[in-house]
Amino acid sequence: MRPDTPRDPVTGPDSGPSSPYPIRLSGPVIKGFGRGSKELGIPTANIPADELAKYPDLSVGVYYGVVALDPSRFASQEPILPAVLSIGYNPFYKNETKSIEIHLMPPLSSPSPTATADGPVTFHKLPDFYGTPLNLLLLGYIRPEFDYVSLEALVEDIRVDCEVARRSLQRPAYACYLASKEDETCPEDVRGQIRWLTRFES
Ligand code: ADP
Ligand code: MG
Repeated sequence: MRPDTPRDPVTGPDSGPSSPYPIRLSGPVIKGFGRGSKELGIPTANIPADELAKYPDLSVGVYYGVVALDPSRFASQEPILPAVLSIGYNPFYKNETKSIEIHLMPPLSSPSPTATADGPVTFHKLPDFYGTPLNLLLLGYIRPEFDYVSLEALVEDIRVDCEVARRSLQRPAYACYLASKEDETCPEDVRGQIRWLTRFES
């Protein structure tokens, strides 16, 4: 169960992602377990988990990162979107196979729909993009997976994950990972990651 301790407002170093991040994952968006939207109101784009075999030391848990969708298949507001994701078994649902479930958030320049717990929280929702090739750069780890006493407790923890991810990505050292155009002032290694992120075979 989740320990009853306050959550960290940000995670990972202020100086930017440090080894082993960024970690690259990609794949077409596939059907998941069908509960993200329906039961929780939190859509999660699932991609095949087989690439995880390349990272045997990667812990299960919740992460933040940046995502690009193949623009020839899906036109998003910005070419690169902030994301919060879970890698693992979702103990609340006792899944037996590992999954990668990615919740795309609005651009950091837009207001956050998950900013407060007052009133019913509505998570970001886009038109469906099943089948669309997706690239993901994992930039930091947020927390381990927990089981929960209730669905409400799970949803509230995911709401806080979204805010932790946003605040973590809003730090200056992370800005180049969300820069929509190639920015000459960004470090060359980050620009290389962004070129990979936004490259799709046509
Ligand atoms: P599934 O179990 O098939 O993954 P979900 O209820 O988790 O179903 O919904 C996921 C689908 O919803 C994604 O594959 C995508 O097409 C769509 N979607 C809409 N908005 C979002 C969002 N903000 N983040 C991720 N996926 C979204
Ligand atoms: Mg899903």
